[in-house]
Amino acid sequence: CGIVGVVGVREATPLLFEALRRLEYRGYDSAGIATLVNGHIERRRAEGKLDNLGRVLELRGLPGVTGIGHTRWATHGAPTEGNAHPHGTERVSIVHNGIIENHAELRAELELQGQVFTTDTDTETVAQLVDLNLKQGMAPREAAHACLKRLHGAYALAMIFAGHRELMIGARHGAPLAVGFGDNEMFLGSDSLALSPLTRRIAYLADGDWAVVSRDGAEFFDMDGNAVVRQIRLSALAA
Ligand code: GLU
Repeated sequence: CGIVGVVGVREATPLLFEALRRLEYRGYDSAGIATLVNGHIERRRAEGKLDNLGRVLELRGLPGVTGIGHTRWATHGAPTEGNAHPHGTERVSIVHNGIIENHAELRAELELQGQVFTTDTDTETVAQLVDLNLKQGMAPREAAHACLKRLHGAYALAMIFAGHRELMIGARHGAPLAVGFGDNEMFLGSDSLALSPLTRRIAYLADGDWAVVSRDGAEFFDMDGNAVVRQIRLSALAA
């Protein structure tokens, strides 16, 4: 039910965790964080309150300067640790708010092409579709864009990619998502409250937008892949 992401220079996990705290008010049943550790995707997830995730992270820390976080309000698949986001493969990790309406068709199609699902969520179809695109040789931004064009339903998404420490991709359709601008670090968040501990400089994605975020800025695109300009505003909430 809430999304955060960071590409930067500081340890990502504490930043993501703090931002997830600001999203607790929306309600959730599980939570998780994924980061890039030496180029590989690693994640920690827990059922229930953020404190549970906090305990998991105390036992097994999650280093890295690039990462995504999620609080989930389950719509498809029980609220278990196994169904908690982030979802993905060794190549890509994804957090999602909303519902992928055509998940059943996509899953059947992807399974026929050899993709192996490990959860009961609608979200995993997004991860598996991006994974297949990457395997077929697409670069991350092409793989994400080609995937987005296939999705029906509502989504806010954040993705990170193995081997791409300076990259995060966000997308929005029928669910809010904002890009936060820092100094040599950049963020994604469901709203300005999530981003309030991180930055006050925020640009909202328009419906149908997707954004390629690096450490020093963001490029915005519409669904057809045309570059678009999204204004940075100063949030009233203190950083
Ligand atoms: N539909 C997704 C799921 O059930 C995302 C739910 C949410 O918005 O948190 O996992």
